[in-house]
Amino acid sequence: MDSLKCSWVMDYQQLLENIYQAILPYAKEGKQADYIPELAKVNPDQFGMCIHTIYGETAAIEQADTRFSIQSIAKVFSLAMCLSIKGDDLWKRVGKEPSGTAFNSLIQLEVEKGIPRNPFINSGAIVMADILLSNLANPEADFLNFVRAVAGNDTIDYNKEVAISERENGYLNAAIVNLLKYHGTIENDIEEVLHFYFMMCSIEMSCRELSLVFLAFANHRRKFDYAGFTLTSSQVKRMNAIMQTCGFYDEAGEFAYLVGLPGKSGVGGGIVAIYPLQYSVAVWSPRLNPKGNSVMGIKALELLTTETKESIF
Ligand code: GLU
Repeated sequence: MDSLKCSWVMDYQQLLENIYQAILPYAKEGKQADYIPELAKVNPDQFGMCIHTIYGETAAIEQADTRFSIQSIAKVFSLAMCLSIKGDDLWKRVGKEPSGTAFNSLIQLEVEKGIPRNPFINSGAIVMADILLSNLANPEADFLNFVRAVAGNDTIDYNKEVAISERENGYLNAAIVNLLKYHGTIENDIEEVLHFYFMMCSIEMSCRELSLVFLAFANHRRKFDYAGFTLTSSQVKRMNAIMQTCGFYDEAGEFAYLVGLPGKSGVGGGIVAIYPLQYSVAVWSPRLNPKGNSVMGIKALELLTTETKESIF
């Protein structure tokens, strides 16, 4: 691929536009998630991208303002809340090692006796849903309020149709919660846990909203204190480490190799990545590769760090 133009003083708008042109040949590659019937209805031929720097610069292209189902990206918010509530005790319930297996794998969970490898695979996120259910007065409202507070945006909401559609077809996640319950790792009723987990996954946000909200993680020197949930700089830094090692299921190594930034993806086709103390970037395109990550999203981020010559490595 020809090298894209990018000046030393970064013109992010021009850069994103150049990236979009360069990745257009991949526009038809991959397939949107269809195991959640509501997600199969989304037009797969969409792309959005937005970057926010910690210095206040913003650039956005194409459908950067279209909201989509953030799915597993929501796991970053639940981790922030769980860490704020439990501190290091959280790690008694869930590990922090990359899984090297699919996001919904059961095998590892069985071998490891119901302690999920990390908070970003489904089993780990289901344990976090259980922790939040046990510790929040109004879990659904409190979770949403937290996300709205970090985003500074009260219009962000759940999409109940997506959550219900996932519940009606969520056999694998139901198997996971049953296995966790069998091993004594779940305190609450499994139907309640599943419902809350699917609700969290159903939140909808745009690339512009996501990249703005993730500045809270990109800038770990800024005070993290939202809706009564606080994290220290060190906790935020460590969340970034978990995004780096576990944010892309069994493709975390490939993402580190190609892009070199901490981040989190979701099966709605969204990816958020952060360059600590520099910027946060969100990209969305519904067509996924076989590992469940957005094809155009990964290409766009790979070009971003290649062209800017900036990554954490
Ligand atoms: N709600 C989805 C599931 O549990 C989230 C998966 C994802 O985005 O990785 O299957």
